Amino acid sequence: MSKLYDPIKRHLAIEKLVTKENFSKKLRKYYRFRADRWYGGIATADAVGCGLLCKFCWTSDKVLYRPNDVGDFYEPKDVALRLIKIAEIKNFSQIRISGGEPTIGKDHLLNLLNILEGFEGYTFILETNGILIGNDPNYAKELSKYRFIHVRVSLKGCNEEEFTTLTGAKPEGFQLQLRALKNLIDMNVKCHPAVMISFSHQNNFKELVKRIEKIDSKLANNIEIEELILYGKVAERLKKYNLKPITSYQPDKIPNELI
Ligand code: SF4
Repeated sequence: MSKLYDPIKRHLAIEKLVTKENFSKKLRKYYRFRADRWYGGIATADAVGCGLLCKFCWTSDKVLYRPNDVGDFYEPKDVALRLIKIAEIKNFSQIRISGGEPTIGKDHLLNLLNILEGFEGYTFILETNGILIGNDPNYAKELSKYRFIHVRVSLKGCNEEEFTTLTGAKPEGFQLQLRALKNLIDMNVKCHPAVMISFSHQNNFKELVKRIEKIDSKLANNIEIEELILYGKVAERLKKYNLKPITSYQPDKIPNELI
């Protein structure tokens, strides 16, 4: 097995590439703003950069491996106004950051949330791998100030071993993902776990449910099952890593209830 990387160190290293300060404004790199069909319709800003290297990730090689080569820096106000404009045009009530990991660049994210809070009627869905929230309890405390957010922590597999197989990161990263859920629950932040189960055996999933129950029984009843969608880039990566999913969907055959 190639050398495992430290997921926290990698998030912090990527942060240096995709954030910067300009006259005290906290900028973050994005490569796209769009309307998307998930959650019944959601305004989406696609950020550059993630501290994990999931072997099933759908983002481009540039976004995942070469963040210097893609995107532009935006200040929080620009991002907020673009998202609100998309939501208004499409009549969406939900907003999110996707593409990369939104918790990279905490100051940028919190400034963005401050601005979005001024627009009533929206829910901000924070889709995260949870590594930075698990590593810093203060992060969850700061998120708890915003009642219009819902955090979706996307677990990479059902245990430490699966996490390492899927991400190439040290297994402790999986504990950080679970700790993110605990930190969020402790701070009364609305959240739920999503679990990529396409590579998991049922017993591992059952064990994971028990671990989540110990954090909070309501969370265990609210686990979102995430299954692989074989977009071109995903299939290419799986082939490269010789990784075979147990379950998956073709992009044109995703069941409506999953969208
Ligand atoms: S955490 Fe998400 S964005 Fe980051 S590599 Fe994994 S799938 Fe891609």
